[in-house]
Amino acid sequence: MRLVILGASGAGKGTQAQALAKHFGMKHISTGDILREEVKKDSAICRAVKRLMDRGDLVPDELMLSILEGILVEEDNFILDGYPRTFSQALALNAICDRLGTPIDVAVSIEVPDDEVIQRITGRTVCSKCATMFHTIFLPPKVHGICDVCGATLTQRPDDTMDTVKHRLKLFHALTEPIIDFYRRQGILISRNGVGDAEEIAADLIKTLEEKS
Ligand code: AMP
Repeated sequence: MRLVILGASGAGKGTQAQALAKHFGMKHISTGDILREEVKKDSAICRAVKRLMDRGDLVPDELMLSILEGILVEEDNFILDGYPRTFSQALALNAICDRLGTPIDVAVSIEVPDDEVIQRITGRTVCSKCATMFHTIFLPPKVHGICDVCGATLTQRPDDTMDTVKHRLKLFHALTEPIIDFYRRQGILISRNGVGDAEEIAADLIKTLEEKS
């Protein structure tokens, strides 16, 4: 099965993608995670990409496409999280899938109001060593600022500050939201309210996908 999952950062698409990938045995491809790994390398391009990410701006389509093409040639059972983010990325993805003869089967859209997204993202912290996620309100660590798992310091992602989150939301509404309609018109869209218990949302999505296949 080939899925894309759409939603604002903080809508819970990463969590849902992980649950679906685990249940259906699909590869979870997160373009944000891939980029965060890439920018650890020390090169002029990586530093430029990191600056864009830290500001909450999008990385150029050509770079994203070259990363994605390499992955999709190897994979035909995946859930794509974070791509497409622009209409031209959606067209490029369709073109790759057409060429490979492996069309996207389902697009899942997770919908969450902006104020909830802001509360979720600005409160989240991540362990600097083992990458475990916490949240000041929803999942506080036992000791403030310290990871429960390994005892290292918790940090905030540079793009999780209030101003950057608002900027990312603006880009989401302007550039990514129109893609939802693109998939709706192809008859492959499943949209779900992303507010509520993450496990219940995942169970409901799994049921819908099982009924579809
Ligand atoms: P995410 O983890 O999905 O919130 O992505 C983090 C950041 O990576 C985004 O704010 C963008 O800077 C960059 N990024 C991830 N996916 C894409 C994409 N498909 N196109 C452009 N930039 C992306």
